[in-house]
Amino acid sequence: MPLFDKILVANRGEIAVRIIRACREMGIGTVAVHSEPDAGAPHTLLADEAVLIGPAPSSESYLRIDRIIEAAQATGAQAIHPGYGFLAERAPFADAVEEAGLVFLGPTADTIRSMGDKTEARRRMQTAEVPIVPGLVDPLSDADEAVAAADEMGYPVLLKAAAGGGGKGMRVVESAAELPRAFEAASREALAAFGDGSVYLERYLSRPRHIEIQVLGDTHGNVVHLGERECSIQRRHQKLVEEAPSAVLTPDERAAMGAAAVRAAEAVDYRGAGTVEFLYQDGEFFFLEMNTRLQVEHPVTELVTGLDLVEWQIRVAAGEKLPFAQGDLQLVGHSIECRITSEDPFHGFLPSTGRVEHLEIPSGPGVRWDGGVSEGFEIGLHYDPLLGKLIVHAATREAAIDRMARALDELVIRGLQTATPLHRRIMRNEAFRSGELSIRFLEEYAELLE
Ligand code: ADP
Repeated sequence: MPLFDKILVANRGEIAVRIIRACREMGIGTVAVHSEPDAGAPHTLLADEAVLIGPAPSSESYLRIDRIIEAAQATGAQAIHPGYGFLAERAPFADAVEEAGLVFLGPTADTIRSMGDKTEARRRMQTAEVPIVPGLVDPLSDADEAVAAADEMGYPVLLKAAAGGGGKGMRVVESAAELPRAFEAASREALAAFGDGSVYLERYLSRPRHIEIQVLGDTHGNVVHLGERECSIQRRHQKLVEEAPSAVLTPDERAAMGAAAVRAAEAVDYRGAGTVEFLYQDGEFFFLEMNTRLQVEHPVTELVTGLDLVEWQIRVAAGEKLPFAQGDLQLVGHSIECRITSEDPFHGFLPSTGRVEHLEIPSGPGVRWDGGVSEGFEIGLHYDPLLGKLIVHAATREAAIDRMARALDELVIRGLQTATPLHRRIMRNEAFRSGELSIRFLEEYAELLE
């Protein structure tokens, strides 16, 4: 007996395809929802059933809670998987799904709410004795308060939106003179993006690495961590290349960071798959935020743990107990993911639009492609520019880099600019190969972008 008869996937692109594939392997029927231009999209065609929910703008389709729930009810789906982005971390959606008598394939609305506000999350983490990035735990009321707090903390500081995500509402501030204007700008940007203008201050770490821990919890009080992912290669505070394990963590550091992530998850009664993000510098780590959903970069964890995270999201949502304890989990080999976006890396990551004229997907030993586009598909500006993710697994980090370089050379996408040529350069960069990384990698090796 499958755990559910039918699951509705409230998303599009590669992640919708990924979820549909997991359901199919588990014998679960699938319902796709789609906008008008996505009528011929891979996720729409792959699902058992598809329901049109509106025109191209997300606000009229993929963000329409009412239409998505109606689609689930009309098709008899029992559960909804939100993927990432769109409604995945909106507590009112999780509430609406449960009120409609359906299962939300994610944590509870309360968990989403408490981690969705970065200041509240920081307060909770302090209580749970998880080290946080030094700074405030309450929103600022005005620019004067910001200047006073920054003077005490020392410059540079980082202004951050409490409701933030996607790098929006974030400003690095070098001096008191810049702070009032930056405060106004960050508040305005946060208000426009999230409907909440609250901002707070953190110390701006000079050269940290971004290292995050995957956690998995069930509804019986068990939480384990599945090791780390290093996501230091970023542009505009957004990830580009991810790997597992990190080239620098010692087993002791991994255990300490993992235990902190488990404490963080337990503090909010976490159920399902989640990620606790940390900044790591000089052997110290600091809580950044928790993402209460499946992450884009989840496959690198899947390849080193041998676990299917979407399958486990579904199993724990159906009430299954995790059958493994922390000590049963082992990390094997090394995995790398490159995000293949429709952006021109040599012109400021300008979004590129057009038809996918030709598509050749790499294969061979240790190569995985999680894609959301097909030949002939039109890429517009309405949605996330992620076309697909190229992921490799090999015995060692060096072998994984060589394998990724080989796979990137096989990848052909014609009709639009993609990040592929930049990824090819990164795989051949000596600093990357030596594991000498920080979130400033692309600033420090700016020649890669020329
Ligand atoms: P968002 O939710 O908007 O993505 P995060 O808090 O997750 O924002 O931070 C995104 C990225 O910004 C991090 O991966 C890191 O590169 C950078 N960053 C965030 N906070 C700091 C900090 N205090 N010091 C230095 N870099 C930071």
